Amino acid sequence: MQTIYDLNLKMLEEVLAEYGQKPYRAKQIYHWLYQKRCSSLDEMSDLPAALIDRLKENYCLDPLKELTRQVAKDGTTKYLFAMQDGSSVEAVLMHFHFGDSLCVSSQIGCNMGCSFCASGLLKKQRDLTAGEMAAEVMYVQKELDAVQGRVDNIVIMGTGEPFDNYDNVMRFCEIVNSDHGLAIGARHITISTCGIVPAINAFAKGHYQYNLAVSLHAPNDELRAKLMPVDHAYPLDRLMDALKKYSEDNHRRLTFEYILLHDVNDTDEHAVQLADLIRGMNAYVNLIPYNEVDENGYHTTNEKKALHFYDILMKHGVKATLRSKHGEDIDAACGQLRAKHEMGSQTE
Ligand code: SAH
Repeated sequence: MQTIYDLNLKMLEEVLAEYGQKPYRAKQIYHWLYQKRCSSLDEMSDLPAALIDRLKENYCLDPLKELTRQVAKDGTTKYLFAMQDGSSVEAVLMHFHFGDSLCVSSQIGCNMGCSFCASGLLKKQRDLTAGEMAAEVMYVQKELDAVQGRVDNIVIMGTGEPFDNYDNVMRFCEIVNSDHGLAIGARHITISTCGIVPAINAFAKGHYQYNLAVSLHAPNDELRAKLMPVDHAYPLDRLMDALKKYSEDNHRRLTFEYILLHDVNDTDEHAVQLADLIRGMNAYVNLIPYNEVDENGYHTTNEKKALHFYDILMKHGVKATLRSKHGEDIDAACGQLRAKHEMGSQTE
């Protein structure tokens, strides 16, 4: 059954019109869903009982159940949810000094096939709906309510390629960003893409205020195509042209994600090439330690070398940050927990 979290305000107003109800009821329902964070549609005590019944005939509140979780020493919590169709989805809550960030999944499995990523171990089964993504956030937010906590930031960096599920992802962002929804500021929402150029162009045209992060991971097509098959469809020149246009038209700073893989993409030459590719753009590089995935043989770059790579970028005029590791002692990398679960090798 469809979840009510799927509906943006306009869609909810349209549904209410069909039911012969006044449009103001939509905001009333939103208030119950996103501010009071009700756990059942029956709690909506200022709605007519007949309306609640009608809603319940057509929509469920919660389309997911917790299957299992892993909690790391640093508090990073990885949730594995079961969806109504039996498939499973991950979300990861991370605590930072600037607030709590929730990493949400946008698809069940992923078809992008990046060679270092655990998500690709299981092919895409289907897209998540906007409401299923919102339900990931609501589940965690309801849990944080008990300790006066808040999902401050959302990063769409879980399993899946958000720009391969563009319409649902944009509607999800609209719902959580809405003043009547969770009111999470657009600048606190980050969409991460592996570089699907037509969707980047559409995103640029929409003039959204959400942050855009791009998974680069290699500074030349030869290496990038080996790591990320998407490079065959959208090679670096097309990708960089689209990103420059996005950043200039929208006056927005871009983030490039670059996982450091030992002896694969972390030499001095790679750093110089990367700097040459990015210099002059309104962008910075987020250097990410690699969470090792048993199945694929890549290793993370050690800290000394990572710092050296960072120095080269900075010396060549490109701003960078070195991300600290989160959830090192759990399967926190994209798709890791889910892959283990589905492959039946969960060791807990
Ligand atoms: N498909 C999107 C979003 C999901 S992946 C994208 O490609 O951006 C989110 C980020 O995590 C990407 O930068 C991805 O390359 C990275 N990632 C995947 N597996 C990882 C691992 N094992 N360790 C560290 N980062 C990983």
